Amino acid sequence: MPDSYLRTQKHAARPDWNLIEKKWRQIWDEQKIFESNPDPTKQKYLVTVAYPYPNSPQHIGHGRTYTLADAHARYKRMRGYNVLFPMGFHYTGTPILAMSRRLISGDTDLYNTFLNVYGVPSDAIESFNEPVNIARFFHQEIKQGMNEMGFSIDWRREFTTIDETFSKFISWQFNLLKRKGLIIQGSHPVGWCPRDQNPVSQHDTLGDIEPNFIEYTLVKFHLGDTYVLPVATLRPETVYGVTNLWVNPHVKYVVARVGKDNEPMWIISRDAVKKLEHQGHKVDIDHEIDGMELVGKYVSNPITQSRLPIYPASFVDPKDGSGLVMSVPAHAPYDYQALLDFKNGNFSMEMHISDIVKPITIIESEGNEGDNIVPSQIIIERLGVKDQHDSLLEKATTELYSHEFYKGRMKENTGKYAGMTVSEAKDLIRSELLQNGIGEILYEFVNKSVKCRCGEECVVKVLNDQWFLNYSNVQWKDLAHQCINGMDIVPDEIRSEFNYVVDWLKERACARKSGLGTRLPWDQDWIIESLSDSVIYTAYYIISRYFKYGTKNKITAENLTDSLFDYIFLGEGSLKEISEESKLSEELICDMRTEFTYFYPVDTRHSGRDLVPNHLTFFVFNHVAIFDRANWPRQIVVNGSVLMDGKKMSKSFGNIIPLRQAVKDHSADTIRVALLSSAELLQDADFSFEALRGIRSRLDDIYQMGILLSSSKTNSISSLKQFYDNHSVTESEDRWILSMIQRRIRDTTELMDRLRVREVLHTILYSMEQDLQWYNKRVKSKGRNETLVTTILTVFLETRIKLLAPFAPFLADEVWSSIVGDATEISANLVWPSSREESIDPTAEETEDLIKNLIQDIQNILKVTKIKPAHINIYTSASWKWKVYQKILELIIANRNSSLSDVMKALGNDSEISQARSDIKLIKKIMEDILSITVERRSLKLNTKKLDELRTMEDAASLISKELGDENIEISVFSEDDEDTKKKDPQSKAGFSRPFKPAIYLI
Ligand SMILES: [Zn+2]
Repeated sequence: MPDSYLRTQKHAARPDWNLIEKKWRQIWDEQKIFESNPDPTKQKYLVTVAYPYPNSPQHIGHGRTYTLADAHARYKRMRGYNVLFPMGFHYTGTPILAMSRRLISGDTDLYNTFLNVYGVPSDAIESFNEPVNIARFFHQEIKQGMNEMGFSIDWRREFTTIDETFSKFISWQFNLLKRKGLIIQGSHPVGWCPRDQNPVSQHDTLGDIEPNFIEYTLVKFHLGDTYVLPVATLRPETVYGVTNLWVNPHVKYVVARVGKDNEPMWIISRDAVKKLEHQGHKVDIDHEIDGMELVGKYVSNPITQSRLPIYPASFVDPKDGSGLVMSVPAHAPYDYQALLDFKNGNFSMEMHISDIVKPITIIESEGNEGDNIVPSQIIIERLGVKDQHDSLLEKATTELYSHEFYKGRMKENTGKYAGMTVSEAKDLIRSELLQNGIGEILYEFVNKSVKCRCGEECVVKVLNDQWFLNYSNVQWKDLAHQCINGMDIVPDEIRSEFNYVVDWLKERACARKSGLGTRLPWDQDWIIESLSDSVIYTAYYIISRYFKYGTKNKITAENLTDSLFDYIFLGEGSLKEISEESKLSEELICDMRTEFTYFYPVDTRHSGRDLVPNHLTFFVFNHVAIFDRANWPRQIVVNGSVLMDGKKMSKSFGNIIPLRQAVKDHSADTIRVALLSSAELLQDADFSFEALRGIRSRLDDIYQMGILLSSSKTNSISSLKQFYDNHSVTESEDRWILSMIQRRIRDTTELMDRLRVREVLHTILYSMEQDLQWYNKRVKSKGRNETLVTTILTVFLETRIKLLAPFAPFLADEVWSSIVGDATEISANLVWPSSREESIDPTAEETEDLIKNLIQDIQNILKVTKIKPAHINIYTSASWKWKVYQKILELIIANRNSSLSDVMKALGNDSEISQARSDIKLIKKIMEDILSITVERRSLKLNTKKLDELRTMEDAASLISKELGDENIEISVFSEDDEDTKKKDPQSKAGFSRPFKPAIYLI
């Protein structure tokens, strides 16, 4: 009974989501609906997401990537794909080791975090002395949370990266890479924790900082014959322009023998000693001196042999480089400014020096030509730099550096380098310095401070005889570029970032001395590190279920030989021999091969944006190295992170919300929708409880509509075609809502294919809500209560539920089953609605818009004039005006710059409408009307037949007075075409009417 639905709408009970969720999780589990096996009749779709590292429970921030992947998986399932969405757990690496050690050493801060923030029972924390217990505990915790969130995972394929069978897979991967020459042994710099004696990557650092470092050249300046002062620079080509050195007079320096015995002693800061030692230099400190002792002495430039003074400067940081700085005032704005401050006495000086040096310009660049030009001076003056503490100096430095690097040439005073571009000269001068022993290499972190999770300050260490993945290999880079440029990247704007990372990546240490993981197959002293063993595990998912659930044979790690993996993943080798070697039946091996060829490649890989410079790019590199082109990944989807009330989530802000708690408090669907609806893909999503409450009440409303409609016992509509076949629809609002349903389906499908989930959810939750409210108003105001209305509302709800199902699966299943009255009819079997273009009805849409606009116009008039009318006359425009309108519309669609005279000319050719030529004002107004609507809307109007405005207005009269807040207002409608209208038009308003713009008269 539609009437009962409409009347009781507000009074249905609020749902108990936790109860509903529990029910559906159980049904999904029992029906095994997320377990996917090869099915040749269906197209497959493999959805993967970067698996979690179980060293803490998941919080809301972790939920976004997984929820997006799940919504994607559910959408593709509804589109008819055989979707596989597997999940594993990443135990490998050192973080849980560091955690365990901190607990053992009595770290109360960590203990309290576990106990109070994460809610870990104290007896479980006791067991964390054994690192693997940390992983096991949070593994179960995270898995439970994923289930509670409703993720549609095939759990049969679950594994951990310390499973013996997985180790066999990783051994195979590494043997293969080594055979291909992509793993090399050598001396390369790595980020390093001196306490753990292990390389560090983003995974191992506090704040997840990627330990990037950069190569400096140490240039050695001689102080007499006994000492050298090495100075670190990124611009070795400017050695020709050095005017002086800077030393910090307040810092202690050391005199030390570095490396060879026959070389003069080095003078460097104490901090530099540690760096040099880690980078392959033997350092013996002889004695300490004050920086002040160096001030006023002279060194010689190793290239030009010129004599340079040493000046004092407290800006020199002993932690940077060698603790000494070379000054190139002409090309380094900082040096120029320091010299200027020095000269002006603005800078606290410990002594007076009379012979202030002059800048030496050695590079000429566009705009900086001429003999007396000092490029630093020009840019400093242009930017208005105040003193050496001015932050504008950073901008000046970057700007000048890049300008000179790309557009600069070496000047006459640079000897054999004169005339070369800066980029050429830079490499040549650097090699000359290194070859002649005047220069050394020094690596420094790009980020000032990189700390290990154990708390120790990290260093750059040059590792000897270490194993590296050779990401410097040019052919390998080329393949990675090909893969990236050939795949779909969502959103596309992140593609260039991937290409940048591929270019920039160098050799990467792939093994450690400690931590959990797989030993290097050919060198058992080393353990493969955690970002190297997690790049092709997406292939392992496909066969992992055989190791747990294999019924034909029990497969153990012993069965898994390299040649078996070659056969399954690469199709190489003889089946018979492999069967004998692995002691597995040929049939079983074929099953695994078939399953792999069916489900691979990865159709989509989801991850957070922070994994672009490491995991995601390694994922591409390793795929192109190992698999043939057909098995390269097809899509990568990257999303931003989650903020809580505008702030980054962190323990120190106390704003971490565990995911499971959030589900309990707000319902899984609410959390899912909130995570995906608040931001565009790459943006950070801002999470707030206020937004949560809003979404929750939206979802509750949809639920209630479902429950109330289901009680009216209308049959579910299996297809819209069936609906149209069985119903004749004549009322404008019925035609309109059915048209809008089609439009919403079309729009959401297009958006969903590009994973623009924020807009999709906006359409379903807000635009469709407005559609529904309008329809309800129209129906109520006309007092309609026939079954057709309920049927149409059911069609609307069913469509909305289907569109919402990937995002709010619990709600979808609950409402759907209550409508169809069968709890086995679940969302996994729902089919994504397809839009029927022929059901989009422009005339119905224009008609309803006409009513909406008219109501708004009257409301505006009432607001401005403060009139309280008893009567409203509405005058609809004459037929000839419609012809004029159509004519102008056609003209503007053909040429949007049509002028008034173009219009006049066009009207002149048609005798029926040429009378309009006398009403220029009308023509101008119609042109304005048309130009103020969107291009899409214009063509829609072109397809609209002439609206029956008179009938529409009469039909809507009761709604109009209701919307104006006074049902006693009497509405009369007249057509300008009607001769009698003149009598009812005391103020001659009818003449002002235009198509889609009836004239209004308030009495
Ligand atoms: Zn450490």
